[in-house]
Amino acid sequence: MARGISKKRQIKVYAKNAVLQMLKWAQEKYNLSDKINDPIIIISFDPRREFSYGGWSQNRKGQWRPYINLAVVDCLKFKPETYKEYDHYKSDPDIGNKWITTWKAKIRYDVAHEISHAIQDANQFLNPEQAAALKRKFGRSNPADAHSKKFQKIYRAIRKRFVNGVRKIK
Ligand SMILES: [Zn+2]
Repeated sequence: MARGISKKRQIKVYAKNAVLQMLKWAQEKYNLSDKINDPIIIISFDPRREFSYGGWSQNRKGQWRPYINLAVVDCLKFKPETYKEYDHYKSDPDIGNKWITTWKAKIRYDVAHEISHAIQDANQFLNPEQAAALKRKFGRSNPADAHSKKFQKIYRAIRKRFVNGVRKIK
């Protein structure tokens, strides 16, 4: 079905672009390594995949890079819905649960969350100066808590810039 294929392609292009755009913004804003702008991006239409993932992984050349794996199947037949965040910050006005009305907004919402994990985990892949600057800005990571205060600070900045109150980004 040509129509189906073209919607998938549209979703892929939009999602990849959203990842690159948000990473570039964070890389510039926090003065991080160029590695940040060279991510591994997976766009998955698998109906069994419920969750997206963000972190770091090795690329084909064995280099550690941001790794963003997005579950986008619900964008194919999108219905407005409240997307849920974790209990301990779900009521936060900036980073809590969000009512989402378009598939593009859903992608930006998802990408903002997963990018925040990649930035949260970036310290070990940056040079010592950059890692120290990131630590001063956001604090330490607690490996036991992926959605810690540090994650929330980063996520808040990205949500405000790319999701909340943003009506449309091509
Ligand atoms: Zn998460």
